[in-house]
Amino acid sequence: PLTTADLIEEHRICVCVRKRPLNKKELSMKDLDVITIPSKDVVMVHEPKQKVDLTRYLENQTFRFDYAFDDSTTNEMVYRFTARPLVETIFERGMATCFAYGQTGSGKTHTMGGDFSGKNQDCSKGIYALAARDVFLMLKKPNYKKLDLQVYATFFEIYSGKVFDLLNRKAKLRVLEDGKQQVQVVGLQEKEVKCTEDVLKLIEVGNSCRTSGQTSANAHSSRSHAVFQIILRRKGKMHGKFSLIDLAGNERGADTSSADRQTRLEGAEINKSLLALKECIRALGRNKPHTPFRASKLTQVLRDSFIGENSRTCMVSSFSSKITCPRWWNLFHRVKELTV
Ligand code: ADP
Ligand code: MG
Repeated sequence: PLTTADLIEEHRICVCVRKRPLNKKELSMKDLDVITIPSKDVVMVHEPKQKVDLTRYLENQTFRFDYAFDDSTTNEMVYRFTARPLVETIFERGMATCFAYGQTGSGKTHTMGGDFSGKNQDCSKGIYALAARDVFLMLKKPNYKKLDLQVYATFFEIYSGKVFDLLNRKAKLRVLEDGKQQVQVVGLQEKEVKCTEDVLKLIEVGNSCRTSGQTSANAHSSRSHAVFQIILRRKGKMHGKFSLIDLAGNERGADTSSADRQTRLEGAEINKSLLALKECIRALGRNKPHTPFRASKLTQVLRDSFIGENSRTCMVSSFSSKITCPRWWNLFHRVKELTV
């Protein structure tokens, strides 16, 4: 099991994977588990029911990450090793970003937003809420208390290259870049929050707004990126910002051949934004002077989080071991690319 001593402190990019448990339906259909996480940073892909030979670690289907969370890991644990260290970053005038990446149904929303299965919608255990909880705890520390910081939250969605405000009845917003290359989402509602409860209310408002009018909640959310931000301000000026992002499902594009025109366009847009995101994250890791943030709306809106000395990012890639497409383990190759 992971201990606090395992925490990677000085790390501009942290790339993790999380395996979700098979659900009842998958278990009843006897879906076979083909992924084993033998240690805290290794993922092994193997034949169903194969007895895992730990001496074969470094052979072909083995992938190493900063952290690999197995299916018994709680959100609180995932949070502690991914987003938690970045809460300090925003108090130290930095920009922090945490992404959930993966196929539809792999557990991105569960990780970021909380438990939405069953009747009780509990968003208090998601990374959005856990990060907010710790922001309010940090505010009480003498060092930060004397700064007299205010906390604000925004919640918006990027769908087909357009931005919609989830805290303002899905108002469509324009993105402007001024002469100084500052990017602004015009009219985005920034709500002041005084405690974790305030944040939970906003998450609920945003979530219901995200899925309203949709025949299937997942059909829509799998095609859009949701961005929840916690912003610290001091005398009105931005002090730090934490962006927590539930990305669109990364399977779109793979299945575009059979899809209709609208779905193909959405797929192309999602592919474009995930590719742009990868390039921006890699540029951040290498301290490259040029970051290709203009390549998509997602990276453009997040521009200020990809530049500057004090920017840090973590990525949680979720997956289930259910076999959904022939080369699904490409996920691991794609995620690995971020660190090379
Ligand atoms: P995504 O947002 O990637 O499409 P979801 O977060 O909606 O996927 O997860 C799909 C289903 O699996 C949901 O019913 C969710 O409650 C469940 N689930 C996901 N991750 C976990 C987990 N770690 N533990 C238990 N259930 C999970
Ligand atoms: Mg989702």
